[in-house]
Amino acid sequence: MSKKYMTEANRIAVIGGGVTGLATCYYGAKHYPDAEITLFEGSNRFGGAIESVFVEMDDGRAIVCEMGVRTLRANAPRAIVMIDLIRELGLEHELAFLLKSDNIASRRYIYYPDHLVAIPVANVSKSIVHIPAPDAVTLKHICTLVRMVFTEPLSKGLMTGIGQGLFTKRPLNVVNDDSIGNLLVRRFGKQIAENIGSAIIHGLYAGNMHKLSARALTPGLWALDTRFPLVNFHSRVTKQPTNVSPMDDITQKWIKDETDMLKRIRNGPAGDLEKRIFRDISVFSFKRGVGRLTERLQEEIYAMRNIKIRSNSPVKSISGTNNDMLVHTDFHSEPFSHIISTTSLPTTLDLLGIKDLPTITHVPVMTVAFCYATPNLNHPHRGFGYLIPESVPPQQNPEKALGVIFDSDAITNQDHFQGTKISVMLGGHYWSSHASLPTTDEGVAMAKSVLQRHLGITEEPLKVFARLKKEAIPQYPVGHHSRLKRVHEILKDYGGRMRVAGNSYMGIGVHDCLFSARRIVEKLDDRDRTGLEMYQ
Ligand SMILES: Cc1cc2nc3c(=O)[nH]c(=O)nc-3n(C[C@H](O)[C@H](O)[C@H](O)COP(=O)(O)OP(=O)(O)OC[C@H]3O[C@@H](n4cnc5c(N)ncnc54)[C@H](O)[C@@H]3O)c2cc1C
Repeated sequence: MSKKYMTEANRIAVIGGGVTGLATCYYGAKHYPDAEITLFEGSNRFGGAIESVFVEMDDGRAIVCEMGVRTLRANAPRAIVMIDLIRELGLEHELAFLLKSDNIASRRYIYYPDHLVAIPVANVSKSIVHIPAPDAVTLKHICTLVRMVFTEPLSKGLMTGIGQGLFTKRPLNVVNDDSIGNLLVRRFGKQIAENIGSAIIHGLYAGNMHKLSARALTPGLWALDTRFPLVNFHSRVTKQPTNVSPMDDITQKWIKDETDMLKRIRNGPAGDLEKRIFRDISVFSFKRGVGRLTERLQEEIYAMRNIKIRSNSPVKSISGTNNDMLVHTDFHSEPFSHIISTTSLPTTLDLLGIKDLPTITHVPVMTVAFCYATPNLNHPHRGFGYLIPESVPPQQNPEKALGVIFDSDAITNQDHFQGTKISVMLGGHYWSSHASLPTTDEGVAMAKSVLQRHLGITEEPLKVFARLKKEAIPQYPVGHHSRLKRVHEILKDYGGRMRVAGNSYMGIGVHDCLFSARRIVEKLDDRDRTGLEMYQ
């Protein structure tokens, strides 16, 4: 591929109208007011994995049910990008949230082996892992922990596992990456990894912890793993192990680049909003659901004169000439100075006609949302919800549920509904090898039987909604970094004019998607950027 490209950003194509694509158009139009931007969305709906549905109740009022993204974390490292966008879109008065101090909603459970176990959750070390939970460890946390350790089979092996982990060295052949499962077994023992670790990974990625990349998805734990053994019988001084992948200058430069960008945003008006509202919040949404964010983005970009929006326009392929990049749909081939693909990595590679490159897979998730007339049906287990680890005996979870969210406890100030809203998440990695997936009717029946077995709920719901997303959550495999490095090298051949952003690359949460959208439009004239430069 020749590199004699013009790099002036005058005609930009954005492929994919999920939150990343919408935000890319928004940031792109602000950054390049003279450029013409075209958004191609394959379906007739914008928002992608974000989908809030409104259920009309008998009293004529509507309540919100989430079929995709449910809550956003206020304390995630990149949340400041979201906070800034909320400010710019004027959404701060439409927030619905859960306060860190909310005693009920902060409770979380794990189902093991046949009942719900309360888990004491607090952000004890933000540099290791950020969880949506209160910052401080309270006396109540400690009492719950002690009770759990002494009475619950869930915590069997906790003390010996941690004790053993303190003296364990990372194996010499583990240099560039390892699975989250291996890392957790090494540091906390097999039982804790399977009973607690796998449940958390189900909640975050719907994935199999033995296949997911520790380096890409749990960078704090991965870094900590290099620092062990913390205790050394011979010298008591922590020694740097030899099998630590060196952090080269380029990686450090991009980490600094990201930190500087987040600091810049925090130093602006978003920092004030963060201090004023978000510091006390654990998770948030909007009164009209998370979909309000993509709705507002859509309104904003519809009003921007330099953006053309095309729905029902699946891009079929992308090609490059010496002067232009071309986007091919069923009806047209259009030239652009730059293309930003916000579709998944496999789709982007397919559009470019790149075959035989190791890529990433996705797992399917079915969300089943119930609205019941009776309030607090989840009593006595009030709280955010529960996760189900892979170690639960098959007869306790034949439906392969990943977790259950007590929506009416999780976000309390969203709508007027007085009854109970509960959602069941099914499938994930358990269904990834299934030739055929359950229908939504089958999913509803499965979710009902989960709630009956686990919580004793037999009441018929007033309303129920189910949605199957076949390629719901990307699974970053062990070796994710080196795969993306290879993709970066290939995209670099387009001279900075073919770029990628979205949930296949730098994190799967909505904050990560917004971060990648805001960053991808910076320096479109830089020939070395692809959106994956931090992996080089
Ligand atoms: C069930 C579920 C629950 C989740 N919960 C949370 C949560 O609580 N918090 C959180 O932070 N994150 C959550 N996530 C993750 C988050 O939703 C996603 O990472 C994020 O919304 C992805 O946005 P995106 O725009 O990158 O991709 P997508 O939303 O997948 O959008 C991609 C878009 O590209 C379009 N497209 C695909 N191919 C083409 C083509 N050839 N031409 C044109 N258009 C094309 C698609 O139609 C789609 O609209 C959840 C995800 C799922 C599935």
